[in-house]
Amino acid sequence: MKAICIHEFGGPEVLRYEDVAIPEPGPGEVRIKIEAAGVNYVDTYHRTGSYKGELPITLGMEGAGTVDALGAGVTSVRHGDQVAYAMTRGSYAEYAVVPESNLARVPRDISAREAAAVILQGMTAHFLATSTFVLHRNHVALIHAAAGGVGGLLVQMAKRRGARVIATCSTEEKAARVRRLGADEVILYSQVDFETEAKRLTDGIGVHVVYDGVGQATFMKSLNCLRRRGMMVLFGAASGPVPPLDPQVLNTKGSLFLTRPTLSDYVATRERLQRRAGDVFAWMSSGELEVPIDRTFPLAEAAEAHRYIEGRKTLGKLLLTP
Ligand code: NDP
Repeated sequence: MKAICIHEFGGPEVLRYEDVAIPEPGPGEVRIKIEAAGVNYVDTYHRTGSYKGELPITLGMEGAGTVDALGAGVTSVRHGDQVAYAMTRGSYAEYAVVPESNLARVPRDISAREAAAVILQGMTAHFLATSTFVLHRNHVALIHAAAGGVGGLLVQMAKRRGARVIATCSTEEKAARVRRLGADEVILYSQVDFETEAKRLTDGIGVHVVYDGVGQATFMKSLNCLRRRGMMVLFGAASGPVPPLDPQVLNTKGSLFLTRPTLSDYVATRERLQRRAGDVFAWMSSGELEVPIDRTFPLAEAAEAHRYIEGRKTLGKLLLTP
């Protein structure tokens, strides 16, 4: 089968479209015929070696397709079922082997492409809005990179929970999209100081929670946007990793809370995974959650997709099709 592998860490040029053996499912595992793989920022961390892994690596943490072969002891899915998954590496390929416990069943009214476009970023936005910081009606949230994959879904889920959303993004085109998704205020942080703006918009008090997937470029200023005892949710590092921090900073800036969550810990049980995936698919089906697919690239052009996401171009989801 064809797959995108890396044999060294580096830029998009290290991605190789090559022939590899079709993987065999072991006990408790399922082989999926991939119809679409999602491109996520985390794939670039694996490619650069910022998240360490043993080479060679088949990239891709998200996919959807049909069940093609079952390992011993698998009972919850059958050959031909449509499934989606996140957080098992190897989806940039024609086939992938995934633990049964990681699979979400895809409802009939949702295509494999649509499922691959939402399962990872949708469950991420879900846990951020409903578990890491439980958003309610009287909360004010600052959401960075709000036109991106996770950002756009998080804006919608935060509004769904009744919060007031102050969003940031880098261009007017992105700002228009973020407003359409329901953000109450949009700050062009490429042009104005977002800390000053966030304070002004909250009468100097600050927000209850900052959702920051940008990292290095926004982290310290984001702490200054929080009200007393507010929560900093650092969930990614699109601009680079945040340097080490003295915990005393949290004290001096108002008894702040800091967390660095990751999806795996919020879908660690099958029940939790099914609940989060089920909510996301249900909101999609009912039209409450908009999941725009920005671009679909052939699998062979995965390097282009990486240049696109790292070039800050995404206005929605990027997919690869084998
Ligand atoms: P996005 O589509 O949001 O792309 C990243 C966005 O970050 C860009 O579009 C850009 O928006 C913004 N950005 C700001 N500075 C930079 C920079 N220097 N270089 C590149 N982008 C920059 O990607 P994803 O939705 O896939 O991921 C968003 C974040 O969420 C990532 O940090 C990712 O690691 C994290 N994540 C974390 C998970 C978890 O479990 N913790 C799970 C999934 C994602 P703009 O131009 O508007 O600034």
